[in-house]
Amino acid sequence: MSSDCLFCQLYREGDHVNSADGFVAVNDINPRADMHLLIIPERHVPTFREISEFPPEEARRMLAFVAETARKAGLEDYRVVVNVGPGGGQTVFHLHWHVLGGQTRGLPG
Ligand code: 5GP
Ligand code: ZN
Repeated sequence: MSSDCLFCQLYREGDHVNSADGFVAVNDINPRADMHLLIIPERHVPTFREISEFPPEEARRMLAFVAETARKAGLEDYRVVVNVGPGGGQTVFHLHWHVLGGQTRGLPG
């Protein structure tokens, strides 16, 4: 955990629309689509580059949680986006997954 990290804080005390062991989902504060959810793992890694730090079973459950959160939100068709590094549009350096449903207004980040 990184105590000054925004998404570590959101994991602990955010307004969660879905949660499971080690993962939460919140509404993005600046939505780029009719529905714009963020999937945040409890495990702090700065970017997707460090995905191999997740134990395989945890990585599998994280992907399943992304799909489950979209389904529970009523989405059948949607986009899953991960911005990687500042050049890839990343602004918060705690790995997270964007789920964008409905009409989109450009890429997040
Ligand atoms: P990134 O640009 O790092 O891929 O995505 C960060 C996302 O976090 C952005 O879409 C931004 O709108 C969202 N965001 C930033 N601060 C907050 C916050 O305090 N609460 C929520 N719910 N979303 C945030
Ligand atoms: Zn963090």
